[in-house]
Amino acid sequence: MKLRIIGGGPAGLYFAALMKRENPAHDVVVFERGPRDATWGFGVVFSDRALEFLRADDEPMYQLLTPLMETWPNLTIVHNDTPVPITGNGFAAIGRLELLSRLYAHAESLGVRIEFDSELTSLDDPALAGADLIVGANGAFSWVRNEHETEFGTETDLRPNRFIWYGTRKAFDSLSLTFRETEHGVFCAHHYRYSPGMSTFLVEVTDATWQRAGFAVMGEQEAIRHCEQVFARDLGGAPILSNKSYWRQFPAVTNRQWSFGKVVLMGDALRTAHFSIGSGTRLAMEDAIALWKALRDAGSVPEALALYRERRLPPMKKILDAASASIRWYERMDELIKLSPIDFAYSYMARTGRVDHEEVARRDPKLAVAWERAHPEIHGPSY
Ligand SMILES: Cc1cc2nc3c(=O)[nH]c(=O)nc-3n(C[C@H](O)[C@H](O)[C@H](O)COP(=O)(O)OP(=O)(O)OC[C@H]3O[C@@H](n4cnc5c(N)ncnc54)[C@H](O)[C@@H]3O)c2cc1C
Repeated sequence: MKLRIIGGGPAGLYFAALMKRENPAHDVVVFERGPRDATWGFGVVFSDRALEFLRADDEPMYQLLTPLMETWPNLTIVHNDTPVPITGNGFAAIGRLELLSRLYAHAESLGVRIEFDSELTSLDDPALAGADLIVGANGAFSWVRNEHETEFGTETDLRPNRFIWYGTRKAFDSLSLTFRETEHGVFCAHHYRYSPGMSTFLVEVTDATWQRAGFAVMGEQEAIRHCEQVFARDLGGAPILSNKSYWRQFPAVTNRQWSFGKVVLMGDALRTAHFSIGSGTRLAMEDAIALWKALRDAGSVPEALALYRERRLPPMKKILDAASASIRWYERMDELIKLSPIDFAYSYMARTGRVDHEEVARRDPKLAVAWERAHPEIHGPSY
């Protein structure tokens, strides 16, 4: 098969490697617009059982990535100055650059050709001629998708909150969500260590807070100083670092159709999942596994594309519903911060509708009991 993949992020690279592993005779080329050693951002986090999803299909990849990850069994919600540690929420993180460089090496060792500094801008590009399948794996702002919105039935919902992806050299002890009330509104930092000396430090605020704080007219360094002041206690003097960081709004993207003709989408090009559920990279890699399996199991490319969607849609939809609820929880943070620290942490745990009281009690019995004590009207005087 002649496979041409646009975009060398986790989705495209991993799919290329799986196809080449399946059959070394496949002709697989990935076009990546960036140079080999450049990437935006800092670290990405995987929730739950880290890379368990890889284990069944790709044990060597699991063994390759797991030792590179920072892991913690717990999560901490910081409500102004009150930390509420929550047990039973495992996370693992890895630097994006580290992940990509391992995926480059893995794909190339299997015989995949990666063309760096190659920005493709049209499906008519001669580099795509004669392909049996063209994969649009070029991220959240994919032109492959945007230029064929009618064929894909694309819907984009630009959410109002503003966020910026920073880093810092402070190595935090657990994945933390720190909420601080300021005169302009609530500031939230999603922060976690992804290597022994580096942490992601993502700042999120509502649009109203962003406007009141004056970020619209602030320069890069001034914005960093502002965030450093808000989170001074959490950073403990460590500076915030930028890496082409800029304020954005999250585009919640979905597509009714996942392919047309011999063009198919995967990863963030196919759909975006809010970073607060930590699943974007995982979903991208799961898409790659699903498309590889569909091509392996079906008799033709059109059948495989139908099978890809049919099998992948139900589990993906569950995560997207959770992500959508999570987005909306953050959009209400100015109002939710009025809750007590325990109620606030509990509300966070229950925000996606997938965690009920029994599940909170299973993950963190102490939090469940503290919440029951605070709500005798629900749980009766015995609590
Ligand atoms: C602020 C933020 C925080 C995030 N945090 C997390 C997290 O904690 N955990 C997590 O799992 N995920 C996180 N994500 C999401 C994660 O980065 C993506 O979901 C994941 O990388 C998707 O992989 P992908 O391969 O589909 O797309 P991408 O990683 O975006 O890769 C697409 C690639 O295509 C290339 N490209 C684009 N256009 C072209 C073109 N015309 N020609 C050639 N190449 C092109 C790009 O250079 C890029 O390398 C976060 C995202 C953001 C924005």
